[in-house]
Amino acid sequence: MKTGELFIGGNWRPPLSGETYATINPATEEESARVARGDERDVDLAVAAARKAFDSGPWPKISAADRGRIVWKLGDLIMANLDEMARLESLCTGKTLFDSGKVEIPFAAEVFRYYAGWATKIHGETLALREGAFTFTLRQPIGVVGAIVPWNFPFLLSSWKIAPALAAGNTVVLKPASLTPLTALKFAELCQEAGLPEGVFNVVTGPGGKAGMALVRDPRVDKIAFTGSTEVGKQIMREAAGTLKRLSLELGGKSPNIVFADADMEAAVKGALTGIFYNKGEVCAAGSRLFLEEKVHDEFMSKLTERVKGLKVGDPMDKATRMGPVVSKQQMETVLSYIESGKQEGARLVAGGGRANIGTGKGFFIEPTIFDGVSNKMKIAREEIFGPVLSVIPFKSVEEGVAEGNETTYGLAAAVWTRDVGKALKAARAIRAGTVWVNAYNLFDAALPFGGFKESGFGREMGSAGLDLYTEVKSVWVDLT
Ligand code: NAD
Repeated sequence: MKTGELFIGGNWRPPLSGETYATINPATEEESARVARGDERDVDLAVAAARKAFDSGPWPKISAADRGRIVWKLGDLIMANLDEMARLESLCTGKTLFDSGKVEIPFAAEVFRYYAGWATKIHGETLALREGAFTFTLRQPIGVVGAIVPWNFPFLLSSWKIAPALAAGNTVVLKPASLTPLTALKFAELCQEAGLPEGVFNVVTGPGGKAGMALVRDPRVDKIAFTGSTEVGKQIMREAAGTLKRLSLELGGKSPNIVFADADMEAAVKGALTGIFYNKGEVCAAGSRLFLEEKVHDEFMSKLTERVKGLKVGDPMDKATRMGPVVSKQQMETVLSYIESGKQEGARLVAGGGRANIGTGKGFFIEPTIFDGVSNKMKIAREEIFGPVLSVIPFKSVEEGVAEGNETTYGLAAAVWTRDVGKALKAARAIRAGTVWVNAYNLFDAALPFGGFKESGFGREMGSAGLDLYTEVKSVWVDLT
């Protein structure tokens, strides 16, 4: 694989700066690849290629069925290259090979297949408005899409953007996160193999502030699809105002996981663990605030702290490992400083609390960490830590649980655990978040929209709602008089 080059206009070429940088394996701290340091000048070329492919290339003009076939083929090729894609994803992110190979890359392939089916089903409406007029709407592709993605689910979150964008006839420039660009480059190879016309999909690797911002500012880009931190999302929104770009933002979260006293305790304990420790807590929807109804608090906590001991931290390529290292040294230091802040603010540390030693003396490993007796006022309950740190907050009544769950600037996801269906549905309505799980955590499907309320962003990816982000509605009025 040509990791040191960019994929622009159907060709591989070195960055104009001639520079590369190293990606680091977070489990070993060793260099895993050298990658092109793309900048504004490379983005300029990539956008020109995507623009040309949209304005005069075949992609938006070929039949929807042919477009669908190519998008489906991409899904097939992802599965045919599953082992390599999974290995590359784990190498950069530190996620377990199980998670990338059995869960995330197959899910990304499914997203391509799901939207392949939609290609032939995008349609407008005819409206019978009056005699002497024929009025209808068209749903057309937006044009050139700039996709900017984070490092926690590099390829999966790219698929949520690329698949609907392509199915609807758009062209794409992808800017992967600097730490995790390898699956994006592999996917570019698969696009060549699938017969995607040149310029329809382009990849520019490089730093967000330069390559990402250049995409946001470029007047030839019609839409930015961004997933990342709320802070950068706000910056992008300000910059995109300059050209009034279409924008979808999937941002951070501080999701409440609310356990009522009548819940199935075993299931809720398991859900609390996956809710926070899947992908080492580097999940936008992580159930990082666990609300426990006081009556069951002690029983729940004894089960939870017992179960957390079984979570093996270690080499992500080892089958027995349940939690790999966090993505980078910087992320490790951020998470450790939040743990320190929890201790200082008086939260009770009941599990973990520091770096995990897996015997190699290397790697950015952190113990699964649980703080009890947390209040919503503490920093660890207010800010997104993006690491394996759980804050447990006791509550007394249903109303209090929901109100405290809502007490956050974010609104990405939430879960409630109860055997009372009425209570579950009332809570699901009252919680201000884009996804609410009942008696479950972290369940996703290509057909079910995902996105945020409040400062978790706007726009819904996946499902039919995901297509709205990549089409414009045009009204046509034909005067028949
Ligand atoms: P980040 O915001 O630092 O970076 C995201 C992407 O934006 C990267 O590709 C980065 O290079 C680029 N970027 C950085 N600065 C930029 C700028 N000034 N202009 C343009 N692009 C820029 O986020 P991260 O640290 O990679 O990822 C973690 C964050 O992503 C967390 O806050 C997490 O909650 C969020 N996230 C949200 C979702 C969701 O669906 N809502 C999913 C996953 C992650």
